[in-house]
Amino acid sequence: MKLNKTVLITGASKGIGRAIAYKLAAEGYDLVLHCRSSMSELESLAGSLQKEFNTDSSLLQFDVSDRAASKDALENYLAKAGAPYGVVCNAGITADNAFPAMLGGEWDSVIDTNLGSFYNVLHPLVMPMVSARRPGRIITMSSVSGVMGNRGQVNYSASKAGIIGATKALAIELAKRNITVNCVAPGLIETDMVSQELADAAIKSVPAQRMGKPEEVAAAVSFLMSEGASYITRQVISVNGGMI
Ligand code: NDP
Repeated sequence: MKLNKTVLITGASKGIGRAIAYKLAAEGYDLVLHCRSSMSELESLAGSLQKEFNTDSSLLQFDVSDRAASKDALENYLAKAGAPYGVVCNAGITADNAFPAMLGGEWDSVIDTNLGSFYNVLHPLVMPMVSARRPGRIITMSSVSGVMGNRGQVNYSASKAGIIGATKALAIELAKRNITVNCVAPGLIETDMVSQELADAAIKSVPAQRMGKPEEVAAAVSFLMSEGASYITRQVISVNGGMI
């Protein structure tokens, strides 16, 4: 059944973002699917969702670390379609290295993509969402690395800890506007981002003794997106098999 609510998902071309798109489409949301470069994957995803769930999807392509490009693309979208009900800030990258060997570029690209995107994507969207005077949902994607720190990921841990702080602060600003702002912090999830080598080394620290599936992260996002979650804001929901 159609909900007549639209959700924008950044980084929807694969992995966790793609699983979120499937879950929300199955629940009746219309979608704005976004990626940086994988447009053909995004087009075939939109086609599958249309066929399976009658989902209306718009497609957006921009680099979330590029402030001007993000603003342009989002303002164009807003002018045509108005403010979305929900936003899932999911796009992200890693560039792992031991800190002494970490290059400036590895630091900058991860901070600009994972944390810079909080501003670049949400700043153009927040006032239109507020002005719509409807309940809304913002969900950001942190990581267990942002909660507890992780070896070889000083850049990534910093970006994902920053996301938690930004999410909690924005939640306070938007609470009385009926827009909830929450964070999901996945552990080790089976996607292209996690190499076999990393998975083998990290699985020892997962009490569940297995990797999580993208669908298990999507389930948490779907709950936070729902009407039932209207009194939950400023929270970090971990999906990590008991890692912390
Ligand atoms: P994937 O590498 O599978 O997918 C990443 C997605 O982000 C792709 O759609 C990609 O688009 C998009 N993306 C990356 N960089 C940019 C950019 N600069 N501009 C626009 N889009 C971009 O990653 P996951 O699905 O594993 O991760 C999704 C989120 O979950 C990330 O924020 C990640 O940090 C977080 N996370 C993942 C964990 C895991 O174990 N997998 C654990 C904890 C958190 P394109 O294909 O076009 O490049």
